[in-house]
Amino acid sequence: MEEITANTTSTVSLPVMEHFYTIQGEGYHQGKAAYFIRLGGCDVGCVWCDVKESWDASKHSLMKIEELVATVKKTPAELVVITGGEPLMHNLDELTDQLQQAGLKTNIETSGSHPLSGLWDWICLSPKKFKAPLEPILHLANELKVIIYHKSDFEWAEKYAALVAPHCKLYLQPEWEKAAEMTPAIINYILDNPQWELSLQIHKYINVP
Ligand code: SF4
Repeated sequence: MEEITANTTSTVSLPVMEHFYTIQGEGYHQGKAAYFIRLGGCDVGCVWCDVKESWDASKHSLMKIEELVATVKKTPAELVVITGGEPLMHNLDELTDQLQQAGLKTNIETSGSHPLSGLWDWICLSPKKFKAPLEPILHLANELKVIIYHKSDFEWAEKYAALVAPHCKLYLQPEWEKAAEMTPAIINYILDNPQWELSLQIHKYINVP
């Protein structure tokens, strides 16, 4: 049996829920072609999570890292986004090493609630109220993306904006089910606080994965 969840040991295979080549719909890299690898496993427990089927890592087949990288290389992708689930529940050193050796840029989308592993060209930190991010990743994040579910979340977003590095890009993104209600509030907030930018899940509007 191969180890699938230890985040301190070398990993040969990872539980992959899905992988696909598409358009990044969110945040700083929105609109760019990207190969997404969604890993199984998450213990954060967001009530509004739209990928709850990712939570149980054991429900997702193990895929060899070599095979994953070879699959990505069959496409014209230049950028790979590792997401989940919570991808940092796994040791990502080997995956990112092989992706970078294959000439691919490595981006991660994480809640930051597990220790950082892997070599990253871009770290998108999306902190969650249900399990706080660990302190070291706050200084390393290139992008802070806060999901706005309720108006009280603006104050919570500012708490994390004060903790990330000065170069970190700041995004507010409406939770999908609340988008009709929260997007106007986010727009007004950004007009008053222009250090923030709007992130929309454009892949859901244009109906791509
Ligand atoms: S961190 Fe992501 S995958 Fe995990 S529960 Fe929250 S939204 Fe879902």
